[in-house]
Amino acid sequence: MDRDTAALRKELKNAGLSDQVIDAAWPSWWSDDAAASTSARAELRFALSRKLGLSSRSLLGERVEFVWEDDARFKNLTATDRIKRGALASFGVAVGRMLLKATTEVQPLVTLSAAELRRAVLANREVVDLNGLLSICWGLGVPVIHLRVFPLRAKSMRAMVIGVDGRHAILLGRDASYPAPIAFTLAHEIGHAVLGHIGADRAIVDVGDSSFDDPDLEEREADTFGIELLTGSPWPIITTNIENFSARALAQACQQAGPERGIEPGTLALCLGYQRQEWQRASAALGYIYRTAQPVWKYVNKVAAQQLNWSDMSDENVQYLSNLMGVDRPDA
Ligand SMILES: [Zn+2]
Repeated sequence: MDRDTAALRKELKNAGLSDQVIDAAWPSWWSDDAAASTSARAELRFALSRKLGLSSRSLLGERVEFVWEDDARFKNLTATDRIKRGALASFGVAVGRMLLKATTEVQPLVTLSAAELRRAVLANREVVDLNGLLSICWGLGVPVIHLRVFPLRAKSMRAMVIGVDGRHAILLGRDASYPAPIAFTLAHEIGHAVLGHIGADRAIVDVGDSSFDDPDLEEREADTFGIELLTGSPWPIITTNIENFSARALAQACQQAGPERGIEPGTLALCLGYQRQEWQRASAALGYIYRTAQPVWKYVNKVAAQQLNWSDMSDENVQYLSNLMGVDRPDA
């Protein structure tokens, strides 16, 4: 690697970006020959800035700066590292813009209530599950992807919702082996968008676990919205006829009681887990409900790969997004 490129890489890493995301964003046309050309070096900086959400000042090879540093709001964040927060939000807005360009706008999320969204999902299926949420999002023109490349070296991100010109894009971060936990996260993020928590060119980043006693009002509102979307009630009262039940019995009860109320059984098990603070048993019940554990991100990104209008994207962006999503280039 030549000195100029090495210095640029170091600068990006100093700003908190991971090797993975730098590699994913690095243009495929870059070569030793390109490194010798002043215009190619400028083009490299331009491409990286656009993909990673760096300010145009970065083009001049000065200090790496992120665009939306002051505009993002972070949820459940304990460590308040401004630089890393800026990096995450800027990256999210840059990716969200790309996704929205390749997704047809149908109807803004802010025009809908939890009950309306729930009815729309139930028009085509028995329960509101992850599958149904993904269908409704893409159907309304709201792209949802799972990030396989994490932008920062440290700190896990549960999910992020991005607002651009009144539209929204959702980036999922943390994965699970069963769909219900991801359905909860997605329903929560849809809540942030519908409830108008995100302004234009802004992002909300959810870090850490969602919990009902969160002191942040918007977090509680998004949780309540998500629960209503998933179950039909913002505060479902779940009663059990016995106090001590096994995970297997819980799974059976949820499989029996859920579908007739339009509630996916895994979701019902997690609701009970929330309500009684019995995470372990609720999680164990998921094993009985779904039987096979599978990384949920694969499904989320398979749907996304089918829904995105890849032909509306530049070759560079197709490469970058498929890198971020861990899917094969669709035109390969
Ligand atoms: Zn949130």
